[in-house]
Amino acid sequence: MERINVTKPFLPPIEEYQKYIGEIWNRAHLTNNGPCVSELNKKLKEYLDVENIQYVANGTLALMLAINALKLENCDIITTPFTYIATTSSIMWQKCHPVFADILPDTLCIDPASVERLITPKTKAILAVHVFGIPCDVEALENIAAKYGLKLIYDAAHAFSVRYKGKSILRYGDISTLSFHSTKLFHTIEGGAVSSNSKELFEIYEKEMRFGHNGDDHICCGINAKNSEFHAAMGLVNLKYIDYIIASRKNTCEHYDAFLSQSLQRPVLPENTEYNYAYYPVIFESEKVLLKVYDKLVADNIFPRRYFYPSINDISYTPDGECPVSSSISKRILCLPLYTDIPTEVVERIEKIILDTI
Ligand SMILES: *Cc1c(COP(=O)(O)O)cnc(C)c1O
Repeated sequence: MERINVTKPFLPPIEEYQKYIGEIWNRAHLTNNGPCVSELNKKLKEYLDVENIQYVANGTLALMLAINALKLENCDIITTPFTYIATTSSIMWQKCHPVFADILPDTLCIDPASVERLITPKTKAILAVHVFGIPCDVEALENIAAKYGLKLIYDAAHAFSVRYKGKSILRYGDISTLSFHSTKLFHTIEGGAVSSNSKELFEIYEKEMRFGHNGDDHICCGINAKNSEFHAAMGLVNLKYIDYIIASRKNTCEHYDAFLSQSLQRPVLPENTEYNYAYYPVIFESEKVLLKVYDKLVADNIFPRRYFYPSINDISYTPDGECPVSSSISKRILCLPLYTDIPTEVVERIEKIILDTI
């Protein structure tokens, strides 16, 4: 039987991509803010309903640019341990110190009360993650940031297209970052973006991402976070299919819900969320049950992923942190296969194996 992975990148009809490639060939303008990159920036700004956005090489560089644009250095950044490692490693790579706050057991996002308890004079920022596309408690985090004069960054790598209380999730906080990696809901093979409501910040990372140039002038110390025309072209084609991609995933999630949500714990979406169906995590009562289910699925050539395991505070080279909720959930959570046009027959097989095993 065909191997089923936790995800499978959406690929548009090849002719549509080839049309763009043909045009890039004729122009021989391959990178450095070519027409595909400019058009993608324009289309993303409209689709995501944000003040500004810059397409970059990947989501990790997006985070590093955000930290840099906010002039965070040699300071503590309070962050969540329940995420992909890139959230933490970009803090450490920028020579800042991650401090792990625990997560809320329902949304799996950072717990504002835990954040507030960890604030010291060395704390300069909060880096929160809308994990699995579930909005953080943005109001509470905004209040804490304002009360203590902290910067607020959101890693929105999972939250493409998510809206909360009638506006784009990217409009909350000082800066939000996205990843358009192939495993993400919307992808450009490799890619990412930085977005902020502030024109001032936008002007900083817009220059920083291209070596600190402004035309031929040297303005500031920058880095190369540009992405190519070929990647942007994939984004332009995929963006045309975004409604289809989300609708197909929604269908699959509703199927899983109908069969599994009685028997398994699921994260809870806050009210007033327009969700993107980016992931389908289920939480088991123990790691033992999870491993049993995992082995049964793998024996049937189905490969879910232990997103996110281990809790990042439990990794050897990251600072320690007491995060009992995150450590416990990390051991018990599994993301089930979810991608555009996953066959119903496969979804039913997965449901049956899980229900038979637990
Ligand atoms: C994927 C991901 C990233 C990194 O994005 P890349 O584009 O792969 O560099 C960062 N944070 C989270 C939460 C992610 O899932």
